[in-house]
Amino acid sequence: MIAAIGLTVAAVVLGFAAPHWLGLLAAPHRHPRVALAAWLSSQALFVGVVAAVPLVLWVRPGDRWHLLPSSTLSCVNSLRRNGTVPWFSAVEATLWGAGLLVLGRIVVVVSRALLRHRRVTEEHASVLRLVGRPTVTDGDDVFHLVGQGVAAYSIGGRSPAIVLGTGVRELDPSARAAVLAHERAHLTGRHHLLVAWADALNAAVPFVPVARVGATWIRVLVELSADRHAAASCGSGAVRAALESWHGEARDPRPAAMSAAGFVEDRVVWLSGLRAPRRGAQVLHYPLALALSALPVLATVSAVVAALAASCAIFGG
Ligand SMILES: [Zn+2]
Repeated sequence: MIAAIGLTVAAVVLGFAAPHWLGLLAAPHRHPRVALAAWLSSQALFVGVVAAVPLVLWVRPGDRWHLLPSSTLSCVNSLRRNGTVPWFSAVEATLWGAGLLVLGRIVVVVSRALLRHRRVTEEHASVLRLVGRPTVTDGDDVFHLVGQGVAAYSIGGRSPAIVLGTGVRELDPSARAAVLAHERAHLTGRHHLLVAWADALNAAVPFVPVARVGATWIRVLVELSADRHAAASCGSGAVRAALESWHGEARDPRPAAMSAAGFVEDRVVWLSGLRAPRRGAQVLHYPLALALSALPVLATVSAVVAALAASCAIFGG
């Protein structure tokens, strides 16, 4: 029960407060993968913590593994048995019900959405193979579509493909290479799946900011991350030239925190803030992102468990 209350408070902290600090992570001098990984791991941890609430009520780790002082355990058990605190069972039943309800909704909505995403992606890929013209020079997974202007996009899934509009062929060779590198970064980073997951979680629990705001940020961060990869292989000048003539990915996914200028203008600004990566700094990106997601959970659970254990030992026993 004590652990379940701690986990519930941690889920509320992660779900409602995390966007405040995660939103600060995106900055032109920092690799977008740090913010991207932090948003994704916070969302995954949120789901994990929600799932853990009914689990710990069932397993009762405090009773089994004697994690708490014996005085606290006997105090909590006597409260439960004697009915000293009338709302004790009501709180326990509410946590059970709320945890199972939210978890069930996430599992059903997210799995349905991901299955639909896979089906639509496969249909799109098969239509593309019928109507697109494969290119010889760019690889057998790159297709030309007539009449798409200077547009490019990619399709993930089991048979990934990159689609280039007619106008891309007329770009400067370095800008064209940057367009291809950007789309390849989407495929290698499995960005389509990350965006599909974020959209699905948002559809399941739109009232939770880490899902709602996160869906918008993840769309933005995959673009910034792909730009960064393209700049690393083709130079930021080539990516900038490609962006300035680009009309693909027309949907503007920016969160309100970004500037009022167009999304393409924002991406050009981000490229101008690009610095040479520090040696060795890249290995810290994922541990840093994970720590930023996990530390608030650990701190909240520890604080709530310690406070409840102490108050029960002092006032209940
Ligand atoms: Zn893109």
